[in-house]
Amino acid sequence: MKIMTIYAHPADTITNCGGTLARHAEAGDEVVALILTHGGRIHPNKYAEEWRKDDPDTEIIRADTAAIIANKKAELERAAEIVGITRVHTLDHDDEIAAVPEDLVDQTAELIARERPDVIICDYPLNSAQTANTHTVATMTALAAIGRAARLLKNLDGSAEVNVRQVFFTSYPVFISDALSLHGPRNDLYIDITPVIAKKVAAMDCFASQGYDGLFARKLIESNNGEHGRVAGVNFAEAFVRCYNETRPLLPVTEAALADDPLTRHVGYSQINLRADFPAG
Ligand SMILES: [Zn+2]
Repeated sequence: MKIMTIYAHPADTITNCGGTLARHAEAGDEVVALILTHGGRIHPNKYAEEWRKDDPDTEIIRADTAAIIANKKAELERAAEIVGITRVHTLDHDDEIAAVPEDLVDQTAELIARERPDVIICDYPLNSAQTANTHTVATMTALAAIGRAARLLKNLDGSAEVNVRQVFFTSYPVFISDALSLHGPRNDLYIDITPVIAKKVAAMDCFASQGYDGLFARKLIESNNGEHGRVAGVNFAEAFVRCYNETRPLLPVTEAALADDPLTRHVGYSQINLRADFPAG
């Protein structure tokens, strides 16, 4: 199977689904990533912090946009290597996209046609007022591009149609475990990322320029992936909403559900002490 991620900003892929990607890479699946923006202005924490010091490092405070973007891309490349992403595409649009640009849809469709993924992972399109959320714009772009790639004709476009089989949405900010609470909308699929948690920590440590390294990485994984893990009955999990229905021959009950023991859930959930096992550098 081939997975392609489509996200707005350089760190999004790792924070949202880095553990899942690491598990698929370890299982032999190919993983490629597409980042729509250059990340030159999002989370400029390192540079802002340096400016506030009495004796700032001149090399850091003099960094121009090109240097900031180059540094961010180097961070992304290191993180991608850790989780097993074989190729990173960056389209270098501005960080703050206010609406879906047609050229970006074309560029994204072209890359989908070139990579031919079975599965795409992107953010849940949270905010229908698109101007407020670049992540939503990124996903609207991805969905439009998936449609465009599916209508390619070899004789007209030089590339045959590509049918993406499933789209998994991340970062739906809901932590419920059933179809009844909160009127039903929920993450309907969890991936246990406990076996690869060291890779997710190490990959997040790469994004030092935006302050995602060190204690931030550990806190985010403990809280976000930890809470998804609590719902999922494992130490750490990443949560997904499936875009398309699935068809199966029989009603599915997962191995995890069959093995679940409510009385010992607290033990399984608390086996890893992230800060002790992976001390911040
Ligand atoms: Zn982002």
